[in-house]
Amino acid sequence: MKRADMLSSLEAGEDREWDLIVIGGGATGLGVAVDSASRGFRTVLLEQHDFAKGTSSRSTKLVHGGVRYLQQGNIKLVTEALHERGILRRNAPHLVKDQSFIVPNYKWWEGPYYGIGLKVYDWMAGSLGLGTSRILSKEETLELAPTLDADGLRGGVLYHDGQFDDARLAVSLARTAAEQGALVLNYCRVEGLLKDKEGMVTGLLMREGMHGSQHRLRAKVVVNATGVFTDSVLQMDEPGSESVIAPSQGVHIVLDHSFLPGEAAILVPHTDDGRVLFAVPWHGRIIVGTTDTPVSTVSEEPTALPEEIDFILRQIGRYLVKPPGRKDILSVFAGLRPLVKGSSKKTAELSRDHLITVSASGLITVAGGKWTTYRRMAEDTVNVAIGRTGLPDRECVTNHLLIHGWDGSDKLAAEKIAGEDPSLNKPLHAGLPYTLAEIALAAREESCMTVEDALSRRTRMLLLDARAAMQAAPAVAALLAKELGRDEAWQRQQIADFQELAKGYLAE
Ligand SMILES: Cc1cc2nc3c(=O)[nH]c(=O)nc-3n(C[C@H](O)[C@H](O)[C@H](O)COP(=O)(O)OP(=O)(O)OC[C@H]3O[C@@H](n4cnc5c(N)ncnc54)[C@H](O)[C@@H]3O)c2cc1C
Repeated sequence: MKRADMLSSLEAGEDREWDLIVIGGGATGLGVAVDSASRGFRTVLLEQHDFAKGTSSRSTKLVHGGVRYLQQGNIKLVTEALHERGILRRNAPHLVKDQSFIVPNYKWWEGPYYGIGLKVYDWMAGSLGLGTSRILSKEETLELAPTLDADGLRGGVLYHDGQFDDARLAVSLARTAAEQGALVLNYCRVEGLLKDKEGMVTGLLMREGMHGSQHRLRAKVVVNATGVFTDSVLQMDEPGSESVIAPSQGVHIVLDHSFLPGEAAILVPHTDDGRVLFAVPWHGRIIVGTTDTPVSTVSEEPTALPEEIDFILRQIGRYLVKPPGRKDILSVFAGLRPLVKGSSKKTAELSRDHLITVSASGLITVAGGKWTTYRRMAEDTVNVAIGRTGLPDRECVTNHLLIHGWDGSDKLAAEKIAGEDPSLNKPLHAGLPYTLAEIALAAREESCMTVEDALSRRTRMLLLDARAAMQAAPAVAALLAKELGRDEAWQRQQIADFQELAKGYLAE
């Protein structure tokens, strides 16, 4: 996937009419681009910043049915998500893995209660299940999670769910869409919609961020998949239009693996605010979260509130022999959930969890849902697009479409680069599993344009250890400058911008 080539193709074909243009390069938009392109539609995706810069790089990294939704009795949503979990595990085996979870029990009734609930969860997954749940004795629980507080512990329930790397999946989806013929461009912001005399959307205005050039693109269908920014695109369509998104912030902290050694994750079933909390091993660290804080303004770079960090430390601290403190936090990151407000009159009722609307202008908006269900949301969206336009009725094929890198090709490509230039065969930082060769590959094939792209989403260093990422920034800037043909002033600015951004990921 070469960004410069895709941009040239877009410019060369500026007078053509595309079948479908997607605004937004998070899970939802990338899913729509893969679906549309793989049905043979001429497809473009435009992302204003980097792929997954928004919510889609800031999740808990679970491909799950949602034990919490089961508790709430939302059977339809859980069944759909468990089904999608199985499909994603099959199509992206390089990015999704089986993760065992323990629900620790400190009260007599918790063993049978969660034990039965999780048997139902197994049963709902059917043949796409990842493993069988079972009730554990106190000894077995401590063997799997030795740092759990043994005082008052009665036992636990073991169950299985999926875990993934969200931003890497986003990049792999972008490459899959490109392999299916789509033009997939980051740093391209949509600034307005084009309409005909009848007020129907016929295309859009977009500004390319690296050179600042403006383009008018025509399309049969425009899909708004902009997450928490959904309302701003609806405003472009119809000033004063009703808001559909109620954003809610979720924060995670990242700790050293020693806080939860072993392979099992922990699910705290009941926090002070009546939610669940996860502590999950990920790339050799432990991610703990999350919170649920309604917010009134949306930002590309949301920041954790001190009280959110304290809340997470307090909740997880109750379960561990050695409660973590602020000084133990390697990184803290915040994301905004694009929650859909109550049902709208225009809703095409396709799932209780996500919303697809068609505006009077023909603009299609898809929002809500979760990473786990992105494929299904995309299928529903493209079906709506077919129903509303002259696009030919072609079947969705993503159920069995393998996602780029499934065969280990990215690993081989990085090894090849390192073989050709041994100076790139160096780790970016001791203790983190990334090399300079992966950054070179990202610049050449994954539209990696900035130090932030490299350290936050192509590798996950910023989330795993913010200080280590700050230390690696100069070497990454130098390599990117070489790969992208940038000068020293650019390098200095990139390092300064990244250091400023990374400060927001430090807890003290
Ligand atoms: C704290 C938290 C934890 C979560 N954990 C999980 C989990 O474990 N498992 C799970 O399945 N789901 C999880 N989710 C949900 C999941 O992350 C989201 O549902 C999903 O990422 C939303 O993707 P999206 O594409 O709709 O939004 P986004 O990822 O925000 O993408 C929208 C994109 O649109 C772009 N954009 C906006 N305006 C424009 C414009 N004018 N022009 C071009 N581009 C534009 C933005 O830059 C952005 O990149 C979690 C969410 C949060 C917040």
